[in-house]
Amino acid sequence: MCKECKTKPRAYAYRRGDRVYWRSVCDTCNRKRMGKRVGGITALQRSGYKKHKKCELCGFKAQDKAQLDVLFVDGNLRNTAATNLKTVCANCQRLAGVRRLGWRVGDLIADD
Ligand SMILES: [Zn+2]
Ligand SMILES: [Zn+2]
Repeated sequence: MCKECKTKPRAYAYRRGDRVYWRSVCDTCNRKRMGKRVGGITALQRSGYKKHKKCELCGFKAQDKAQLDVLFVDGNLRNTAATNLKTVCANCQRLAGVRRLGWRVGDLIADD
């Protein structure tokens, strides 16, 4: 459980080999913390990354950009290299927390 709000489960951070690393707080609290630390501008915003118009995982076409999130392939929110960023829909973003996507940094987008 999240240390701060104690109501939401902790956020999945990243996976290395067989180990899964978890944050001590949930997504919401984590985002609040990050916001404080970087003064409201995330590394992502600084990088100028532009979201695609559709989900790179399931191909979902968004009507509004708010439906799409940016996924950090290696789980490191400071790694804003183009190869580490994927546009995914809210649905896939949620899934990324519970199962491994199989993407590695630098993988090409599958076109099927
Ligand atoms: Zn929380
Ligand atoms: Zn999707």
